[in-house]
Amino acid sequence: MKRLCVLGSGSKGNCTFIESGTTRILIDAGLSATQIENRLASLGVAAQTIQAICITHDHVDHYQGARVFCNRWGTHLYANRKTMQGIIRSHALFSGLHWHLFQTGELFRIGEIGIQSFHISHDASDPVGFILTLGSTRIGFCTDLGTVTESVYEALEPCAVIVLESNHDPRMVAASDRPEANKIRIAGKKGHLSNQESARFAVRLAKAGNLKRVYLAHLSEECSRESIARQTLCSAFHKNGISGVEICMTHQGKKAMVWNFEKTGRKKAAEILPKKRKFHKKQNFSPVKSFFDWFFGS
Ligand SMILES: [Zn+2]
Ligand SMILES: [Zn+2]
Repeated sequence: MKRLCVLGSGSKGNCTFIESGTTRILIDAGLSATQIENRLASLGVAAQTIQAICITHDHVDHYQGARVFCNRWGTHLYANRKTMQGIIRSHALFSGLHWHLFQTGELFRIGEIGIQSFHISHDASDPVGFILTLGSTRIGFCTDLGTVTESVYEALEPCAVIVLESNHDPRMVAASDRPEANKIRIAGKKGHLSNQESARFAVRLAKAGNLKRVYLAHLSEECSRESIARQTLCSAFHKNGISGVEICMTHQGKKAMVWNFEKTGRKKAAEILPKKRKFHKKQNFSPVKSFFDWFFGS
């Protein structure tokens, strides 16, 4: 089975579950260990079957549940050196965990999942996004960035699915009672992507032709709304004549819609038996077909 589920996303905690065959990993563990366990259980996934957690950067909303989770279940942590050092500087007890260090940009594997990190512009020790390769499908993770650089675009351009930050509405930030320094940080080149910046980037990726699904992530609770983030991207797609790219919302308090590749796999098996399909007209209306059509554009 191949699945992706954003278990939770927002400024209070981020965690995404990815599965490919027998390999199960998390990207970030910023929810509490109990929340992660409960949301995994709602997918029928036991916490002890998670092999690894890949950490994007050393801000607590991306790792605060990792220590308890790893101690309970023996899970291994993957990060670059500066991120590990930044976490241990803030929380010394993380030093006793099973760390695996990667160099930003190098390709490594955890079981059936290929993983490559790339630099992003954010005010952490050495923040990264990830590209995950599951068979022929690439999934991009890109939250917590103040600006989209060419290297970020190049990393995400081949991806069919992306989890992309759409953090705030600039007018809501300006109108909020946050300290001025905080407002400057959010809008700065090392802060967070606004809904408009995120939409512009998603349009560019969609025009490149590989993008099929966008999860809008890391929404500010105070300075955005799901409806505003979604509408901003919908309008941008509409203005640019883009159709066929699905927009999915992520949430802080509950898991997002699961992306299940298994349906695609079943359809592939059906595709190699065209004669059989001919005699099962109902297949034309099955959810499997619509998913396949959506995914491959056939
Ligand atoms: Zn964050
Ligand atoms: Zn951050």
